[in-house]
Amino acid sequence: KGKRAFIAGVADDNGYGWAIAKSLAAAGAEILLGTWVPALNIFETSLRRGKFDESRKLPDGSLMEITKVYALDAVFDTLEDVPEDIKTNKRYAGSSNWTVKEVAECVKQDFGSIDILVHSLANGPEVTKPLLETSRNGYLAAVSASSGSSISLTYIAAEKIIPGYGGGMSSAKAALESDTRVLAFEAGRKHKVRVNTISAGPLRSRAAKAIGFIDMMIDYSLENAPLQKELSAEEVGNTAAFLASPLASAITGAVIYVDNGLNAMGVGV
Ligand code: NAD
Repeated sequence: KGKRAFIAGVADDNGYGWAIAKSLAAAGAEILLGTWVPALNIFETSLRRGKFDESRKLPDGSLMEITKVYALDAVFDTLEDVPEDIKTNKRYAGSSNWTVKEVAECVKQDFGSIDILVHSLANGPEVTKPLLETSRNGYLAAVSASSGSSISLTYIAAEKIIPGYGGGMSSAKAALESDTRVLAFEAGRKHKVRVNTISAGPLRSRAAKAIGFIDMMIDYSLENAPLQKELSAEEVGNTAAFLASPLASAITGAVIYVDNGLNAMGVGV
C-alpha cells in the first residue's frame, strides 16, 4: 500500500517543499499539503487554474495529485495562542482550523494517520538584520517557525558562519539540528519513528529571495563546491523520498548534506 505524506510549507512550485512532494508522489505516496494561511488563497487558485500543471508532471508523464491542501500556521499550537490582530486579519478570517493541533486533528479525522511528515518552512522576520541587531521578538519568531519535526530542511548556517543569514535564522537552524537528534532518540524509542534533516544548498525559492543574497550564494557554490553545477530542488526532493523510504531504515538523527559537497570545503579554490 502507498504511504501517505504531509508536507508543511508549500505555497508555490519553486521551493523545496514542492519538489519533495513530487518525489514522494513519483514514489507512489499520497500527498497532503500544509500551506501558510496568508498564501493559501493564491496557491489554491493557481492550482485550480492549472498554473502549476507543467510543474506537476512526474517522470512517468502523469500529473502529481494533491489529495488535500490544509491551511496551516505553524507558529500557533491552538486557537488560544493566536493574538487578536491575526484572528481578525482578513487573510486568516476566511479559513479555520489552521493551528498545528487543529490541523493534526483534521488530518486524523480525514485520513486516520500519516506515514511521512515533512517540515519545509521557515520564517525569519528579521533575516536581513545581523544577529547583533536582532530583536527578541524577531529572534523568537524565527525559532518558533523554523524548527521542529520528521524530515526537515536545514542550512549550513547552523554550524558555520554565513554572513547575511540573520535575524536568528542561524540559531533556529542550530535548534532544528539539535532537535533532530534528540527527537530521533525519543521518537525512535517510543514509536520507532525516524527523524532526519536535509542540509540543502542554495535554491532560488521565494523564501530565499527575501533574504537578498541568494544569487551570490548560488554563484559561490558554483565556483567553490566539489560539484560545479547548480543544485536543483529535485535533488533535495529525491533525497527526502529516499529518507522516507525503507531504503533508509537505519538512518535517523542525521543531518544529510545535499549541497554539491560545498560543506566539505575548508577554503574556496
Ligand atoms: P519556500 O518559500 O518554498 O518555502 C517556505 C514556506 O514556508 C513558504 O511556503 C511559506 O508560505 C511557509 N511559511 C512561512 N511561515 C509559515 C508559518 N508560520 N506556517 C506555515 N507555513 C509558513 O522556500 P524554501 O527555500 O524552499 O524553504 C523550505 C525550507 O528549506 C526552509 O526550511 C528553508 O529554510 C530551507 N532551506 C532553503 C534553502 C534555500 O537556499 N532556498 C537552503 C537551505 C535550507
